[in-house]
Amino acid sequence: MKNPDCIFCRIAAGEIPAPKIIDDQWAVAFMDISPLVRGHVLLIPKGHAITVDELSREQAAGLLGHLPSLVKAVKAVTGCQGVNVLQNNGIVAHQLVMHVHFHIIPRNPGDEFHFNWPAGKIAPAQAQHLAEQIKAKL
Ligand code: 5GP
Ligand code: ZN
Repeated sequence: MKNPDCIFCRIAAGEIPAPKIIDDQWAVAFMDISPLVRGHVLLIPKGHAITVDELSREQAAGLLGHLPSLVKAVKAVTGCQGVNVLQNNGIVAHQLVMHVHFHIIPRNPGDEFHFNWPAGKIAPAQAQHLAEQIKAKL
């Protein structure tokens, strides 16, 4: 279902132009308007959903089924050495556009994109406990 106030719904519907790579029943992929690096692509579901946990299994499958071939094509065209697939949910997680989107970001040594990865520590028993709590909510 389309949200008329949503910029990505409007791109998906062809009302706002974007250089499109994929456009099918489930998904649209297009070039990011303010790329973090050359070749920065966005992959979005066709139907409006704000965060990834709102997608049905069927929507997620239709959307993410495109990921391997899309990443492969981006790698082939940009010649990048690696790729980050990044997906932000919520303002606190740097989500600015409130329609689910996966960033495909080509990576090369010394490129302009940086993020902090403050790897911590967790006791095995605590990790096991958390795993069980999350599993119980599936
Ligand atoms: P977020 O921070 O929400 O994860 O990222 C939103 C992304 O959408 C940003 O990378 C931004 O450049 C991109 N974006 C926002 N508006 C438009 C638009 O109108 N067209 C395109 N192609 N990309 C957009
Ligand atoms: Zn939308």
